[in-house]
This record gives sequence, structure tokens and C-alpha cells, in this order.
Amino acid sequence: MNVLAQVVVSGVLAGFASMGIAYFTTARLSQPWLTRLVSFAAGLMLAIALLDLLPEALESGLAADTLFAELLVALMALFAIDVKLHAGCHHGGEGVCDHDLARPVPMILAGGALHVFTDGLMLGSAFLVDPVLAWTMTFAVLAHEVPREAGDFALLLTARWGRRKALAWNAVTRLACVLGAVAGYLVLAGAQEWVPFVLVVAAANFIYIALTGILPWLRREQQAFAWQGGFMVIGAALVPIGMRFLHT
Ligand SMILES: [Zn+2]
Repeated sequence: MNVLAQVVVSGVLAGFASMGIAYFTTARLSQPWLTRLVSFAAGLMLAIALLDLLPEALESGLAADTLFAELLVALMALFAIDVKLHAGCHHGGEGVCDHDLARPVPMILAGGALHVFTDGLMLGSAFLVDPVLAWTMTFAVLAHEVPREAGDFALLLTARWGRRKALAWNAVTRLACVLGAVAGYLVLAGAQEWVPFVLVVAAANFIYIALTGILPWLRREQQAFAWQGGFMVIGAALVPIGMRFLHT
């Protein structure tokens, strides 16, 4: 399959498959399994950032001190964006925070669209580096988007939207994931020298979401620690194992 087609499929999977799973399982996917899925996503995202994206950026010629300086700036910038958009508590679990309930519906939809657009951008640019890496990231985005989507559905239903209307509008925002992926791929294809920098931002994004969005939520579910830890380790271990296996 040509790479642009793979980019589109990846965007569709990351955006729409997560939405479909969230929609059809909100009632059925029990809290313990949601917790395990989220733990798995956290392990996967941290491992992708630390074992794939950052080493890849180093290998593509970025000096170590530049890389870590950029990582530092990116993490602080993500915090600023997070506070301003106030979408941070959105990741993880059912994703519903008390103050989220007060957020107007257009904000929920716009926040969701912007978030998946960024996810898409990262996926699209990853395809320029290594399709195997990009597919691993697709999997990670899909896994962390399920609970986030479920959270958005819950919020829209709380705002007295019907399930069908909530699904239709969510689907519109999910197009942003596909658009982001195609945009990321096409823009960076013409500016390859920016790829290492984008890899560092993508790593910062995964680290930030895992550490500030997912882990604090998991900490509240301490009775499930063995399951969480197990799934997190599996998620993290899959990355080096998968990369080795798929590259040979
Ligand atoms: Zn996401």
C-alpha cells in the first residue's frame, strides 16, 4: 500500500475505530476493563516516546543538548496549552471531571477536534520516519482515545443530546484526525529537516498525556494495582519486542 494511503487508514483507525469502540462499549466495557485498557495505553505511550521517538530523533542527527532543551520547552508548552484549553483531565478513565460537566458542548467538540488533529499530525509525520513506528503509534492513539471518547459521549449525553446526535457530531470532529494525519505527512514531506523536531514534540505529547492525564486517574483506582501494573508493563514491553520483531 502506498504511504499516503497508509496515512489515511491510520488516521481513520485512530480516529474512528476508537470512537466506534467507545460508542458500542460505553455501556458494556466495565470500569475494570477500561482501567486496564488505559494502563496498557500509558505503558505503550511512555515506551514509544522513550524507546522509539527520542532515539529516532537522536539518530536523525539532532544534538543531545538540543533534543533535551526542546523536550523541556515542549513539556512546559503542553502544560500551558492544557491549562488554557482545560482539557487535561479529559484523558483517562471515563474522563468526566466535575468542572468538565460545566463546559459548554461546542467547547467539548472543539477541544476533541483539536486534540485528535494533533494526534493525526503526529501519526502523519511518523510515517515519514518509519511506517512500523507510525503503526505502533496508531495503536497507542487508538487505545488512549477510547476512554477519552467515552468521556465525551458521557458529557454530550449529560447535556441531553440523543445518542445518535452525539455520535454524528463526534464523527465530524474525528475527521480532524484524518486531516491532521494527511497534513502532517504532506507538510513534512516537503520539509524533512523538521522531522527530528516533530519527533521530540510527539514524544513530549505522549509523555505528557500519560503522566498528567492517565496516571493520576489510575492512582485513584488503587485496588486494581496488580492489574494496572501488569497491563502497563505489557504495553511498555510490546514496544521493543514489536519493533524488533517487525523490523526483521
Ligand atoms: Zn489523543
